Amino acid sequence: MNIKNKSFEVDSIIKSDLCVGCGLCAESMKISESSRLIPDNLNDKAKDFFKFCPGVSRHNHNDSNGLFGKVDAAFESYSTDAEIRNKGSSGGTITAIAADLLKRGIVNGVYTIGVGSGIHFLPRLFTNANDLVYSAGSKYCPTPTLLNIHELLSFDGDLAIIGKPCEISALKSALIQNGYTNKHIFISFFCAGLPSYKGTLDVINNLGGNVNSTSDIISINYRGEGWPGKFIAKTQNGIFETSYDNSWGNGLNRTLPLVCKLCPDGVGMSADIVCADYWDTDDKGYPLFDDKPGKSLLLARSELGLNIINSCMATSAIVCNYVEDLEKGLILRQPLQVNRRLSFKERGYAAKLKGVDIPKTTGYKSAYKLSYLKRVKSFIGMFLRIKKQ
Ligand SMILES: Cc1cc2nc3c(=O)[nH]c(=O)nc-3n(C[C@H](O)[C@H](O)[C@H](O)COP(=O)(O)OP(=O)(O)OC[C@H]3O[C@@H](n4cnc5c(N)ncnc54)[C@H](O)[C@@H]3O)c2cc1C
Ligand code: SF4
Ligand code: SF4
Repeated sequence: MNIKNKSFEVDSIIKSDLCVGCGLCAESMKISESSRLIPDNLNDKAKDFFKFCPGVSRHNHNDSNGLFGKVDAAFESYSTDAEIRNKGSSGGTITAIAADLLKRGIVNGVYTIGVGSGIHFLPRLFTNANDLVYSAGSKYCPTPTLLNIHELLSFDGDLAIIGKPCEISALKSALIQNGYTNKHIFISFFCAGLPSYKGTLDVINNLGGNVNSTSDIISINYRGEGWPGKFIAKTQNGIFETSYDNSWGNGLNRTLPLVCKLCPDGVGMSADIVCADYWDTDDKGYPLFDDKPGKSLLLARSELGLNIINSCMATSAIVCNYVEDLEKGLILRQPLQVNRRLSFKERGYAAKLKGVDIPKTTGYKSAYKLSYLKRVKSFIGMFLRIKKQ
């Protein structure tokens, strides 16, 4: 199969709204009509890598039928570096771990989404731990983490690689199948879906910002500076800010692509280490979103992951408190992830019935089941939402 033939397949993935814009198959990206990033030119590895595209297939590399995937240990954690904790999405734990590994020479580089120009974030391979603080924080917009795959593949050394769950799964598959043997460390986070650029523009316009295009945005902070912190956009017309809750619920989450709605894994099942929000709760156990110093839920999913967490505790890069009853705690704090994990098959059947060539999934079995009623509701909800292909 040559690259020209591949471009037909990529076109069909894009047309079906199954492209998450990861950049794995691409040399460069462009903004689509639906305000997402899609491949512009394919890279010369496209023919080897395309079968791992998150819109084509998904594989769970850490076999387990647990509700939240394989969990070797769970902690509430935060960075002891005040700047990283403040800038981080929750506790700055991902950035603190990555920086500590780099400082100690356990890895030679950290590959993640770096600082961009305005709202345009690009991947970067960091070799100086002090620079990593600039990459901290969640970016709720198109982010082509795997676009610089050539740099990642040709790097002479071990890396900590940070990405969305679908990107970690795709990259691991691509590396294994193509015989790469480095001892990379894979770090991910819980992910409810990737909003388009339009999501951000809508939030700003709802605040009276009057922006038409991404180039009107000078800088953006989706959260951080507290937990969860605020959405703050600096534009040509001024500074517009609102709560994290309002930005996500009334703008960003309305622009998720179909591939995210069919996602079998929003909890980073294939990674060694995963972080998420583990909100404080009220007396009845329901999450509270009032601002406070950040904390991350920190999960070890492999022996390597647990060893790294232990070593970062030993150097005091992070503080960790053991979480006793993870499942009970997460069911209350992350009901959306529970629902997504247990109903992705029903949503897939609905999409298939509408003519979508849904991604092939392997390794996502669950010992738990949603009630029959909830599964039927998921099926009908998805069936009604999808346009006929
Ligand atoms: C699209 C998206 C959806 C999310 N959905 C959920 C959810 O459903 N539940 C939940 O608990 N938390 C969700 N989060 C937040 C995420 O869980 C937090 O980032 C996590 O708690 C880690 O916080 P931290 O402070 O330890 O990480 P930080 O120290 O802030 O580090 C975050 C790391 O992630 C990288 N990163 C940020 N955005 C992206 C991106 N778009 N693509 C690739 N890499 C990125 C950064 O470059 C950085 O290396 C989501 C984040 C994103 C980006
Ligand atoms: S999801 Fe990634 S691999 Fe698939 S078409 Fe889009 S950019 Fe290419
Ligand atoms: S919801 Fe799933 S498919 Fe969408 S960006 Fe997150 S991990 Fe990828």
